[in-house]
Amino acid sequence: MNPMLRSFLAISFAFLILPGMAPAKAQLPVRPTEGVAPAVFPDPTNSSQAPQPSAVATPPVPAPPPAPRKLSYNSCNVEGPYVAITFDDGPHPKLTPRLLDMLNERGLKATFYVIGQNVVQYPEIMQRMVAEGHEIGNHSYTHPALSKCSPAKLTEEITKSNDAILQACGVSPTTVRPPYGATNAAVTKRLNDEFGLAVIMWSVDPQDWKIRKASHVSNHILQNTKPGGILLAHDIHPSTIDAMPAVLDGLLSKGYQFVTVSELIAMDRPSGPGVPATPGVGAGPVTIRGPGVPANPVSYESTPVSSPSP
Ligand SMILES: [Zn+2]
Repeated sequence: MNPMLRSFLAISFAFLILPGMAPAKAQLPVRPTEGVAPAVFPDPTNSSQAPQPSAVATPPVPAPPPAPRKLSYNSCNVEGPYVAITFDDGPHPKLTPRLLDMLNERGLKATFYVIGQNVVQYPEIMQRMVAEGHEIGNHSYTHPALSKCSPAKLTEEITKSNDAILQACGVSPTTVRPPYGATNAAVTKRLNDEFGLAVIMWSVDPQDWKIRKASHVSNHILQNTKPGGILLAHDIHPSTIDAMPAVLDGLLSKGYQFVTVSELIAMDRPSGPGVPATPGVGAGPVTIRGPGVPANPVSYESTPVSSPSP
């Protein structure tokens, strides 16, 4: 072949054929958020409501550096009236939207520890949670006691739930709440090391799954909440949802500010000798507590696995 012609053909191939291949490569099915951890929750509606992370990052008085991320949290040592309210076991087709309305009216953020098999039923509720700025956490796929699961079953429960959440609303959880609070040192380590999930317990438990009375739920939460607290509730019981206006407005009137769990643990400060702990929040950082659960939350050993809480 004529060398000139050969060059011409080669150049023509490069310009005409190769560019045509690029779109095909770009169209390969890629799940855009897969493997990209922490979900960012845009909040187009309430930019002035929740405490801004920047306000925490630049306090007027020099603060001690953040504590290293722990494997497990019951509460946090924070400098300010911050709390995280959490709702387990949803989404529920009627009660969760009611709760979202209440939160949205007040511009408040919550964290939802959802069960994977419910997530696949109500993806539109999951999408609403994310759109309104709430955080999503993993609460397993079928709600077993993880401490009783085989290693393979634990992997399945966590992975299927993460996948369901990602599929439904495009976010990847960074925290997990073990069903029934049932964890141990080995499970907590696996959840952190293999799945990148911090274990989130709680410091305030109104036992709303057992005592189905709104006034009990609201009184217990209002009387026991302290700065840095993680509040446990379930958005699958009407009495819990009925309690929420009093809970939310009561805490707001006491000066509390609502943040998501991830925001709260990002504010966690070391405590101990020489470092004043936030009054009433607890003496020190909570790390792994095993084989049962911490002092405040229901002890796993004393809680039958068949118990519906939390
Ligand atoms: Zn639960």
